[in-house]
Amino acid sequence: MAIVVQKFGGTSVADAEKIRAAATRALKAYQDGHQVVVVASARGKQTDQLVADALELNPNPPQREMDMLLSTGEQQTVSLMAMALDTMGQKAISFTGQQIQMVTDDAHGKARIQEIGAERIRHSLDAGHICIVAGFQGVDENGNITTLGRGGSDTSAVALAVALGAPTCEIYTDVDGIYTTDPRKYPNAVKMDQISYDEMLEMASLGAGVMHSRAIEFGKKYDVQIHVRSSMNDKTGTIITHEVPKMEGILVSGATVQKDLAKISLIGVDNKPGNAARVFAHMATAQVSVNDIIQTEVSVDKANLSFTIARSDLANAKAAIDEFREDIHCEDVFTREDVAQVSVVGVGMRSHCGVAQTMFAALAEQKVNIDSITTSEIRISCLLDVPDAEKALVAVCDAFELDRPAADRQPAE
Ligand code: ADP
Ligand code: ASP
Ligand code: MG
Repeated sequence: MAIVVQKFGGTSVADAEKIRAAATRALKAYQDGHQVVVVASARGKQTDQLVADALELNPNPPQREMDMLLSTGEQQTVSLMAMALDTMGQKAISFTGQQIQMVTDDAHGKARIQEIGAERIRHSLDAGHICIVAGFQGVDENGNITTLGRGGSDTSAVALAVALGAPTCEIYTDVDGIYTTDPRKYPNAVKMDQISYDEMLEMASLGAGVMHSRAIEFGKKYDVQIHVRSSMNDKTGTIITHEVPKMEGILVSGATVQKDLAKISLIGVDNKPGNAARVFAHMATAQVSVNDIIQTEVSVDKANLSFTIARSDLANAKAAIDEFREDIHCEDVFTREDVAQVSVVGVGMRSHCGVAQTMFAALAEQKVNIDSITTSEIRISCLLDVPDAEKALVAVCDAFELDRPAADRQPAE
């Protein structure tokens, strides 16, 4: 019997009616002859509420305790869904991350899954249960509860699909699939039928909150197809899969915006081997995830080193810099606490030129100043002022016709 993993996000389990609808969908898959594993998120805005509860008591809560608290949101949903299935006459059992041995490292708030002991789930599936697993949470080797980062239930689901050998993971959410950009920010965005893992990985890392980026990494590495679709209807959504030749013809598949970044510039650092390594080793120890890095030589002796991070990591990054600043003879530290980034992503960029020019021209026309530019083979990102972010996104989406299905856009030259 094929195993199906279905993940339901917060909006899709927000109240009793929605939990019942999700349970009914899982039951349908079971009745169609599948073994069914459901991964559920906390209901509605429950995680936000728990964060607010914590901050009311302590503006800087210990991370271990934060994970203890946040993990309770998912635990509520899974038990409620098991109860809903029980009323339908279906055997169902809920599990926390700890109960299924979802083992992670100890990076509270952004833990990474190391292994999953899927035994208990297999046993329950074989006994005819639908298994309902709390997403977003795991346990470290010392038995402390960890969480995987906001939006992390996607990663729990795809990782479980890998552990159980399921070929596909279904992500049920509040949109019909992956759009060319966030439809809340650009209402004319269009849904894609499919997108490559690499493009989706870039989009997710660059702020497309529809999928947690680690989930895509797991899918790509272990060959699990991810189907992102709506929990409100039965329409086919977007398949995230390996690249197929026709994707090459699409210059820009999607665009993203991030408004929660900070930029740190280390000015006049000694231009010597080992200094960059030292800076980023300290950042890693401080559990700061670094996005884009730009180093420029300003003289034979000195270089400037800039990088972007999530604004929430800024305090940790500053503390880390204090530890090594003198060792690298850094003359000045310049911090921008609030920068935004607009990016375009597309595998077609590898084989076509002109994308950068189109993007910069669109921004110039809106009088948006570009602070810095970074690129990879399949993306271009521009750092800019936060108040410009929304109009920059719209300008870029218009320029690349992201309001039209790929087949209807002007062909690339
Ligand atoms: P869930 O709770 O189901 O995990 P999320 O809120 O995490 O749902 O993700 C769905 C939301 O992601 C959508 O409501 C949409 O606003 C946002 N989103 C951002 N970028 C995109 C995109 N490119 N395509 C679709 N949705 C997107
Ligand atoms: N409940 C968690 C969050 O709100 C995890 C998730 O929804 O994926 O971030
Ligand atoms: Mg999500």
